[in-house]
Amino acid sequence: MIIDLHMHSNISDGSLSPSELVYLAYDNGVQLMALTDHDSMDGVHQASAVTEELGMGFIPGVEVSTGWGGRVIHIVGLGLDASAAGVDAFFRDVCTKRDRRGQLIGERFASFGIQGAYEGALSLADNKDNLSRTHFARWLLKAGYVSQYQEAFDKYLKTGRPCCVEIDWPGLDEVVELIHSAGGMAVIAHPGRYAFSEDWMLDELFKKFQALGGEAIEVCSGSQTRDADQKFAEVARQMGFLASAGSDWHTHGGSRPLPGHQSPIPEDLTPVWRFLRHL
Ligand code: AMP
Ligand code: MN
Ligand code: MN
Ligand code: MN
Repeated sequence: MIIDLHMHSNISDGSLSPSELVYLAYDNGVQLMALTDHDSMDGVHQASAVTEELGMGFIPGVEVSTGWGGRVIHIVGLGLDASAAGVDAFFRDVCTKRDRRGQLIGERFASFGIQGAYEGALSLADNKDNLSRTHFARWLLKAGYVSQYQEAFDKYLKTGRPCCVEIDWPGLDEVVELIHSAGGMAVIAHPGRYAFSEDWMLDELFKKFQALGGEAIEVCSGSQTRDADQKFAEVARQMGFLASAGSDWHTHGGSRPLPGHQSPIPEDLTPVWRFLRHL
C-alpha cells in the first residue's frame, strides 16, 4: 500500500489547492494520505471530500511549528479533529504571528535596499492568512533579487541569516497537548533536519517528546537523506516510537520526491497509521 502522511497545499506554502494535491497523490498511486499544512487545518475538509470521491484513505493532519532548544521543530499531528475545542483558535493565533513576522521580515529586506518584500510575498500567498518564508523566497526569485530559490534561504532567510526573524512559537508541551486533546497522534517531522549545535540535543528532544506522550517519528521523509531514514529507523526501534513516512511535497520543480515516493519504512517497525482511523 502506498502511503504519504506529510504533504502541503496552498493553504500553507505548497503550490496546489488541497483538491489538486489529492489528484496528484492519486495519480502517483497513493492509497492513504494526510494533508499536513503548516499551522492550519483549513484545507482538510476539501481534501477529505476529494479523497472520498476517489476512494482513497484520508487522515486529517497538520504540521505544527514549535520552539525547542533554540530551534524550530516541526510536529506533525495526525488524525486530529479540526473542529475540536481550541484547535482553530490555536492556529489563528500562530498565523497572526506569521503575518506580524512577515512585516518585520519586510523591514529587514528594506534595510538591505530591497523594498516591497512583505507586499510581494503576500501577493504570492494564495492563503493570505498563512504567510511563510517560502513566499518571500519565491518573490525574491521572481523579482530577480536571487537567481535560484535556494539562494534566497541561504543568503537571507534561513536560521542565522539577516532576514530570518524568529517567532515565539508555541512550546513542545503545548503542541503535543493540543494534538492529543483533539484526538490525534503526535509525530516528530523530518528528524534529520534539525541542525542542533550538539548531537545530544536531538536525543534530548526525543526523550522530552516521549515523556510528553509523543507517539511517533518520521522515519522516512522526502526532506531528509536516506542515511537519515536509516538512522531514525534505529531510533524508533531503540526508543519504541511508531514510524511515520511522508514525501513533504510542496511544489512541482521543488527538491522533494513526488507524493508517495519517499522510502518505505522497514518492515520490523510499527507504522503509525495502524492506530489511526481512516476517513
Ligand atoms: P516558515 O514556517 O514560514 O518559517 O517557513 C519554513 C518553510 O520554509 C519550511 O516549511 C520549508 O518549506 C522552507 N524552508 C525552511 N528552511 C529552508 C531552507 N534552509 N532551505 C529551503 N527551504 C527552507
Ligand atoms: Mn514548508
Ligand atoms: Mn517541516
Ligand atoms: Mn512539511
